Amino acid sequence: MTKQTHAFQAEVKQILHLVTHSLYSNKEIFLRELVSNASDACDKLRFEALDNAALYEDAPNLEVRVTFDAAAKTLTIRDNGVGMSADEAASHLGTIAKSGTREFMARLEGEQKKDANLIGQFGVGFYSGFIVADRITVETRRAGLPPEQGVRWSSEGTGEYELETITRAERGTDVILHLRDEEADEFLKTWRLKSIVGKYSDHISLPILMRKEQWDAEKSQQVLTDEWETVNKAAALWARPKSEVTDAQYQEFYKQISYDSEPPLAYTHNRVEGRSEYTQLLYIPAKAPFDLWNRDKRGGVKLYVKRVFIMDDAEALMPVYLRFVKGVIDSADLPLNVSRELLQESRDVKAIREGCTKRVLGMLESLADSESADDKTKYQTFWNEFGAVLKEGIGEDHSNRDRLAKLYRFASTHADEGVSFADYVQRMKEGQDTIYVITADSLAAAKASPQLEIFRKKGIEVLLLVDRVDEWMLGHLYEFEGHALQSVAKGAVDLGKLQDEDEKKQAEATAEAFKPTLERLKATLKDRAKDVRTTTRLVDSPACIVVEDGDMSAHLARLLKQAGQGAPSTQPILEVNAEHALLRRLAGDDERFDDLAHILFDQALLAEGGQLDDPAAYVQRVTRLLSA
Ligand code: ADP
Repeated sequence: MTKQTHAFQAEVKQILHLVTHSLYSNKEIFLRELVSNASDACDKLRFEALDNAALYEDAPNLEVRVTFDAAAKTLTIRDNGVGMSADEAASHLGTIAKSGTREFMARLEGEQKKDANLIGQFGVGFYSGFIVADRITVETRRAGLPPEQGVRWSSEGTGEYELETITRAERGTDVILHLRDEEADEFLKTWRLKSIVGKYSDHISLPILMRKEQWDAEKSQQVLTDEWETVNKAAALWARPKSEVTDAQYQEFYKQISYDSEPPLAYTHNRVEGRSEYTQLLYIPAKAPFDLWNRDKRGGVKLYVKRVFIMDDAEALMPVYLRFVKGVIDSADLPLNVSRELLQESRDVKAIREGCTKRVLGMLESLADSESADDKTKYQTFWNEFGAVLKEGIGEDHSNRDRLAKLYRFASTHADEGVSFADYVQRMKEGQDTIYVITADSLAAAKASPQLEIFRKKGIEVLLLVDRVDEWMLGHLYEFEGHALQSVAKGAVDLGKLQDEDEKKQAEATAEAFKPTLERLKATLKDRAKDVRTTTRLVDSPACIVVEDGDMSAHLARLLKQAGQGAPSTQPILEVNAEHALLRRLAGDDERFDDLAHILFDQALLAEGGQLDDPAAYVQRVTRLLSA
């Protein structure tokens, strides 16, 4: 193939424009990205060679070399990994296959700092080379292909790139950066490059080699020699004993694998021996990624087998509800050629998953239960970011139900956040044995619920469940430590022992006197309400909507409708406060009885966040009343 010019995919052009025009801080990360690509390429070769040792071409020592030429102003990152064929070079370096590019660009455009770190988060690390280079040349040959099928890819990082066939004896890839004049001074120095490698790439388990420097007395400066030295530790961080790894190194490693600019909330590093032998290094991030809700999202745990990288997104190692956990698991028992299918079935993997789940829950418990205010804040941060995901666990992971329920936090009528079931139980009134909850679309809607009035009056706490997943959670969680969970919007309120005798008697008397009006209300609303009954749950409101025990809550029915799923349409029950002025007026107003009855029902529906089937009729009724 002679030299051909190709246009970049539109997304790449946009990325390149942003990279070259917007990233000012942390420019040095380009080296981390390119070294990390080089190391990935070696990992890929090692993996492919498991089935086909010939791919090593008699050079099985995988390594990365970083060299520079100060006169030519070039910096080269060379690896002897898997390399790329011409087609691969065109598709991998000319298009972006991943989704999320749009989010990336929106973030970049919004971000104040223009931190180059962001680039790694979105898997477009190669293009970071253009932060410092005005031309990048890539010379590569796919392992296993003949030397004549080498490829040169070259671009100035604007609209297009060139491809041509070259002859290349060694397999693997050279990425040659032609540095911009203003960057050349900074990056073409051994000490500077070494320090960047040390900062970002120490944990890379391959050796990263650079030419050794020597003091030249005559020139009275450092000069490069022909000798090579390894400039990283080249030992996988998780494989080192805990005592030899500093907190700063754990933090740095986290950044590398997560591309998160914030430090993690907690981490745990252990060697597990027993049924299955493995090392785990797991982190809990402080911030949810933008695609947390994408169910197909890749898991955050990398799988290694005896230090050999196997796969990036080994979902089988963590339950779905812990998909936010980042880290590494290195197994001593799994076969190196383990496939995804095999992982799903393996008993070793099951043991690893159980072990890791327990560790993660343990980390969360120690934050949640800690005496330190700092840890408590951390837990609340965690909960705000990931609480809704953790709630999925109640249906998914039966063996850890109790531990999970203890970790859950809610808003309540007592506090806007951070209320655990245990807090609630501790505050229960004498004689109370039920945990009262209400679900709603928002905290404001929950707080305004008329159903809460009697609980407020009596000072009984109600948990306000306003996450979408809460309805689902209630379908799986019926009790906490023997106390049933009861929705205050379902069924009749039975405050049981919490109600005093005098109140009860008075309510019965009022209800008795109200009976004829009640019958008439039932008849008037017979097409809209399953039943109309008097209640003691209301204090200030005239009426409220409830559903029967066992029926789907109105909130859940709305959620399903929004999600485009049909929900069985059950008629609600209207409960009325017979002591309210409006109801008393109703009893004596023959002429406007119908209008008032329908308005009563419509307003109760509106108050709990519902929508009117016939808003025009409602407006007409109100208008009639107002103009009478
Ligand atoms: P990512 O590494 O997250 O996939 P990049 O933009 O950094 O995104 O790289 C794009 C692709 O180019 C890589 O997935 C890989 O297939 C290929 N690539 C980049 N560098 C190398 C290299 N040194 N050797 C082989 N392939 C490479």
